[in-house]
Amino acid sequence: MNTFLPFALPDIGEEEINEALDSLRSGWLTTGPKTKRFEEEFAAFVGNGVEAIAVNSATAGLHLALEAVGIGPGDEVITTPYTFTSTAEVIRYLGADPVFVDSDPNTYNIDPTKIEAAITPRTKAIVPVHFAGLSCDMNVLLSIACRHNLKVVEDAAHALPTTCNGQLIGTLASDVTVYSFYATKTITTGEGGMIVTRNPELAKRCRVMRLHGISRDAFDRYTSTKPSWHYEVIAPGYKYNMTDIAASLGIHQLHKAHLFQQKRQTMAAGYDEALQGLPLLLPPHAPSGDTHAWHLYVIRLTDDAPVSRDRFIELMAEKGIGCSVHFIPLHLHPYWRDRYNLQPEDFPCALHTYEQAVSLPLYTKMSDDDQNRVIRTVKEILG
Ligand SMILES: *Cc1c(COP(=O)(O)O)cnc(C)c1O
Repeated sequence: MNTFLPFALPDIGEEEINEALDSLRSGWLTTGPKTKRFEEEFAAFVGNGVEAIAVNSATAGLHLALEAVGIGPGDEVITTPYTFTSTAEVIRYLGADPVFVDSDPNTYNIDPTKIEAAITPRTKAIVPVHFAGLSCDMNVLLSIACRHNLKVVEDAAHALPTTCNGQLIGTLASDVTVYSFYATKTITTGEGGMIVTRNPELAKRCRVMRLHGISRDAFDRYTSTKPSWHYEVIAPGYKYNMTDIAASLGIHQLHKAHLFQQKRQTMAAGYDEALQGLPLLLPPHAPSGDTHAWHLYVIRLTDDAPVSRDRFIELMAEKGIGCSVHFIPLHLHPYWRDRYNLQPEDFPCALHTYEQAVSLPLYTKMSDDDQNRVIRTVKEILG
């Protein structure tokens, strides 16, 4: 019997470990020089004059971004049900309401042709999610936002690095973009996230609200050579700052981001080729010339498959392979269902994609043998 192949594993090298040890030995554990360096290097990586603000999760980053663009009680924010609950929960944190727009049957991203019908006088923003690392149709989405004077905050938790019409996500004409460094994401700090924006006012607001609404960072206060005990609280902020231990990992993970993406892309192509002719749909691809981050590799079992989706995942687990499902659409979860009185068929594309979806393991720590084992097992079950 083979050892169990988990659904996901982080890829942490000696560089990350040594950098974290250096932080532990330095005496500076919380937000400090490593976080600052990670932010500077991240801003340079994205380019186009963005500022980067490190936070302790993408959830925190999305919350700060929506707060900074002015979302408040009674507002409506358009997003997709085909996402993780973070995307929508932060809207509720601010007393606003998410308005779900169904996903596209081919890309699984929010269907831009259905957005305008969901806009009301209360609509203030759109939060697109680049599902699996494939960019939303941002041209159409941004022009709708522009026409209706809506803010755009991109949930780029899956999208490092992803491009849209040749431009890196993070550099588009949206207001704010937020990345996740959760343990399963394309680069990781264990827990962490990054806010990116070209708007200095939004950056400033996120920085202040990330640390208790205090007008100066702890690092500035403690490293200043002048007496600097004084600070001012200008808002009831949050405790969302990144630690230097986490940033130590992020600095080196970021250096490998393009390498990791290439590896993921090669593995995705390997699956594409090997899984042809089986009763399943392969994942959608980026338009030619664009980059797909391949955070996830999601197949859909078609009706002619010999087993149900649930049974397929059970059989894979029995054969020692971890799979997952992305996502259980938000409108099927009790909180969202009951709060907004939603029916499964309200979002038929999200529902039907979910019913067939299986995420296969795809991560840089997997060997060719690991991937071949996944392929062999899928073929055994579905062949
Ligand atoms: C992982 C994820 C998040 C949340 O990221 P955290 O860093 O864990 O807060 C948000 N949105 C999507 C689509 C995600 O997959």
